[in-house]
Amino acid sequence: MADVRLVVVGAGVIGLAVAREAAMRGIETIVLEAGTNIGSETSSRNSEVIHGGIYYAAGSLKALHCLAGRKRLYRYAEERNIPFSRCGKLIVANSEGEDSVLRGLLDRSIKNGLTGDDALRYLNAREVNRLEPNVHAVSALLSPSTGIIDSHSLMLAMQADAEAAGADLVLRSRVDQLVPGAPHTLSGNNDGDEWQLTADNVVVSAGLHSTHLMQGNDWLRPLAPQVRMVKGNYFALSGKSPFRHLVYPVPVEKGLGIHATLDLSGSTRFGPDTEDVVDIDYRVDERRQAVFESSIRRYWPDLPADRLLPAYAGIRPKVQLAGAEADFLIQGPDELATAGLAFLHGIESPGLTASLSLASSVCDRLSLT
Ligand SMILES: Cc1cc2nc3c(=O)[nH]c(=O)nc-3n(C[C@H](O)[C@H](O)[C@H](O)COP(=O)(O)OP(=O)(O)OC[C@H]3O[C@@H](n4cnc5c(N)ncnc54)[C@H](O)[C@@H]3O)c2cc1C
Repeated sequence: MADVRLVVVGAGVIGLAVAREAAMRGIETIVLEAGTNIGSETSSRNSEVIHGGIYYAAGSLKALHCLAGRKRLYRYAEERNIPFSRCGKLIVANSEGEDSVLRGLLDRSIKNGLTGDDALRYLNAREVNRLEPNVHAVSALLSPSTGIIDSHSLMLAMQADAEAAGADLVLRSRVDQLVPGAPHTLSGNNDGDEWQLTADNVVVSAGLHSTHLMQGNDWLRPLAPQVRMVKGNYFALSGKSPFRHLVYPVPVEKGLGIHATLDLSGSTRFGPDTEDVVDIDYRVDERRQAVFESSIRRYWPDLPADRLLPAYAGIRPKVQLAGAEADFLIQGPDELATAGLAFLHGIESPGLTASLSLASSVCDRLSLT
């Protein structure tokens, strides 16, 4: 008999959402987190945007879970008093060429189910100016369902729900090895104390380290996908925000473009940009400021010279299978040919938005009922 029914590896927003869902389904659950706090990696290094679900390829996991997750997230935030704002966002075009990209995004959003109250609105230059007098644009799309959320309060609420339903969270507990079996065996070493635990089910939601436990096992190693790391740097705007909505340029090849997001205190930050990296290093390179300024001035020409400050950076785990756009990758019992095992890879944006939906899907795939 196993020590526990479910072990979740990693207490970022995804691991906490999975633990919450499983515990609330009555499953005995332990969450093992390497760090000294919950959510100290990617889950606290992002834009905190509740995404509408506009950009993703129709039928992709990102499209599916963003839409379903967003609806659940707004409800959850209301129920649990998590600070959020449905502030809306503008995607702005600065040329005829960019305007045709907007029209393509509008089509894509409809295929992804953004209709009715969630539908994007096409705005001409005058309408943009009325909404956001400081924004320069020939046209824009207004996404009314996009918002922002306090991600740390979200994770604390998930942790509280999971613990209230009986789950245990153990910090400073890096899992060093996973041996699949019936049951699965996990082991690690906490400050010299070796430990071992068996579980009927294991969910690995280890963010940037999602393939690490696969590399150490002969059965799992060949199944490990390629995960690239793409850093995103942010610069903060000192002083008052010039915007009331989130303001995005049209997307670029590797990301959404250097956009303006607001936080719940009304401050503005710009980013993230995209930088392929091989090491995890969260320092912001100040030399990027000039590129930020020129990108921002395309839609906010009046950006003063001295108002950007290096802020923070996050790193996206990116999984892109041949011929497809980057997407989430969930390997469950079928893909791994192993009962009771699931790995989540490539949970970049919109992972925060999608978290509650991804958690239900993973628990369903493991038949945790
Ligand atoms: C720059 C950037 C901007 C983003 N903006 C948004 C946004 O605006 N909206 C949105 O919806 N999404 C956004 N995202 C995506 C979102 O932040 C992520 O999808 C989400 O935080 C991923 O959570 P996670 O739990 O998978 O990973 P993480 O938060 O990285 O958590 C993984 C955890 O696993 C732990 N861990 C790793 N290995 C082990 C081990 N062996 N044993 C024990 N513990 C382990 C780590 O310590 C970590 O705490 C953004 C991401 C980035 C990088």
